Amino acid sequence: MAAADQINTHTSQEAAGAGQEADIEKPRCNLCGADDAVVLYTDSDHRYFVDDRQWPVVMCKRCKLAYLSPRPTPSAIGRYYPSNFYVGRDSVAAQKRYQRQWRYLAPLKPGKLLDIGCANGDWMQFVKDRGWSVTGIEPSENSENPHGLDIRRGRIPEALYDVHDSFDAVTAWAVFEHFHDPLGGFEAVARVLKPGGHLILLVTNIRSPFSRYAYQEDLPRHLYFFSDKTLAAYAEKTGFDLLRVDHTTDIFGGSGRGALRAQAFQALGLGVSTLREFHQLPLAQRFRERPAVAAMDAALAVTERFVLNDTVVRALRVSGIIVGVFRRRG
Ligand SMILES: [Zn+2]
Repeated sequence: MAAADQINTHTSQEAAGAGQEADIEKPRCNLCGADDAVVLYTDSDHRYFVDDRQWPVVMCKRCKLAYLSPRPTPSAIGRYYPSNFYVGRDSVAAQKRYQRQWRYLAPLKPGKLLDIGCANGDWMQFVKDRGWSVTGIEPSENSENPHGLDIRRGRIPEALYDVHDSFDAVTAWAVFEHFHDPLGGFEAVARVLKPGGHLILLVTNIRSPFSRYAYQEDLPRHLYFFSDKTLAAYAEKTGFDLLRVDHTTDIFGGSGRGALRAQAFQALGLGVSTLREFHQLPLAQRFRERPAVAAMDAALAVTERFVLNDTVVRALRVSGIIVGVFRRRG
């Protein structure tokens, strides 16, 4: 709670002198509490274009946790989640993804599962069909409950304080990077897991071409950018053993193809937004309008297919998508 108090204090100071900037805060490092970070890069909201503000991704010099700062406050973040944010997430196509996620539960004895950030509950239903009893927590009011499952509404970690069951496993797919307080998230999960219970957590990895050089992070909805090292530090701090970190490319991608092109566009002073606009154009038009740039783009795309292919990225442990498997100490 101390960290949250510090953040709030800091926020009100910012607000006092900054007028309309009241919705923006500059947090301390969530992992070590330091206020000493260096900017890695800035980027805009290139998924929903809610505004064209540039958001800085910074890295704590002390513990290497990367985070967004400044960032929208908890009360202001809602405007960056448009009502179509959840549409299509739990489509039939997602069943393939659930098969891959199932690799992490299949070795465990079926018991009680809690899914954090469960959206419409399709993954919960998938797990229920395989013998588990399931509970979900979802902060968004834009999601529904078509399967009629036990889904509780509320912000995380606060909503977890009212959960008094204990679980054999907790899953959180692409959720922790959205929290304002991931440390509070880990602590709350530790409280609701049985000793020896598993936390399976998928997040993006800052130590990857995908996150660091291809500008694939979803800003300003992603507030934290983890790594093998910072996941291990969170585990140590909150009573978990980190059993392993998998570098995956078949759940939400993560190869980082596009990184060479993004860096080349930056180096030429064209910028990554120009690259995104350029890729919207049909191939023939690209070559007609900017032949030299189109030729470079095509050559780098071929190169990326070799140097950033999925097998290489996994073997080098530089995928943009990582899955941490944690066990609560008993
Ligand atoms: Zn730190």
